[in-house]
This record gives sequence, C-alpha cells and structure tokens, in this order.
Amino acid sequence: MTTRPTIVLVRGDITEQHADVLVNAANSSLLGGGGVDGAIHRRGGPEILSACRDLRASHYGKGLPTGQAVATTAGRLHARHVVHTVGPVWSPTQDRSALLASCYEESLRVAAELGARTVAFPALSTGVYGWPLDDGARIAVRSVRAAARPPVTEVRFVLFDEEAYARFDEALAA
Ligand code: ADP
Repeated sequence: MTTRPTIVLVRGDITEQHADVLVNAANSSLLGGGGVDGAIHRRGGPEILSACRDLRASHYGKGLPTGQAVATTAGRLHARHVVHTVGPVWSPTQDRSALLASCYEESLRVAAELGARTVAFPALSTGVYGWPLDDGARIAVRSVRAAARPPVTEVRFVLFDEEAYARFDEALAA
C-alpha cells in the first residue's frame, strides 16, 4: 500500500519556506507576474527567470498551458526546485475545477519525479485569478488527499492570511 502524504497548514509567505519543492502560482507566460509569482522571482533571484526563459525557448514556446506543471531551479530559495503551475481564472459561468485540481495533481507528479519528499503549495488561483477561497481550499485538499505520490511524504499549504488559513482548516476538517 502506498502511503498518502501528510497535509500540514501554515500561515505565512511561501518564499520563506524550506521544502524540497515550492510551487509557484505562475501565469502561462512563465515570465513573472504579481502575487506569489512576483515574490518567488524577487526572492529567488534571476536564475529562476532565466530557467523560465529557456523553457519558453524550448518546450513551451506558446507558454505553459493551464493545469500543467513544470520544474526549474529554485535559485536562492530554500528549496531544491520551484514547480510552476498555471491555475485557471475563476469563471462564474464555466466549471473549471478540473483544471484547478489538475494543477495540484500535476505539481505533485512533477515533484515526485524529482524525488521530493516535502512540497509547499500556495492557494492556487485564489488571488488575482479570483477563485473563491472556500471552494479553492476544498479542491486543493481533495486533490492532494487523492494523490499518493511517493516519495512525497508531506504537503504543506502555505496560507498568506487568516481568512485563507481558516478556509483550508475547514476543508481539512470536512
Ligand atoms: P493566482 O493568480 O493563481 O490567483 P496569486 O499569487 O494572485 O495567484 O494568489 C494566490 C494566493 O496566494 C492568494 O490567496 C494570495 O493571497 C496568496 N499569496 C500571495 N502572495 C503570497 C506569498 N508570498 N506566499 C503565500 N501566499 C501568497
């Protein structure tokens, strides 16, 4: 039987975390943005952007599609790799939750391929992309719970504010 990873919640800034993999809430250009993306490039240094540019020049000429994930160096961050994933923009008329679930699943798949034991996620899509926090938290917890991805033993959700922490805590208790 394969053990599922332990889920841990912490309140804080993902760029201050120590983990094998830090997941970035990227946009499809892979060339930086606001929120988590801006913070990761600021703190991680230019090596990460340079690796993203190489990806754009090779496998991802048109950018990284929504729901997919790709790894780069973590630069100066306290991690071995950054895994970039592109969450869906929230739509009131279209159900895009499978794409959001795919971000968590694909990021874990890539992290496991890299041999990661610990993986830290932000609350994907719940910032600029407008996903309601309660639903975003439910999808995040459900996706990670369903995934057994050895050697990953710990999945940490890093929540920026009290509200996000509370919604994830509720989703975890459900
Ligand atoms: P998206 O474009 O996928 O919505 P954002 O980066 O705008 O991504 O926001 C995703 C979530 O991460 C939001 O809940 C936001 O409050 C939170 N957030 C923003 N900066 C950080 C950070 N440095 N560490 C952890 N979470 C963050």
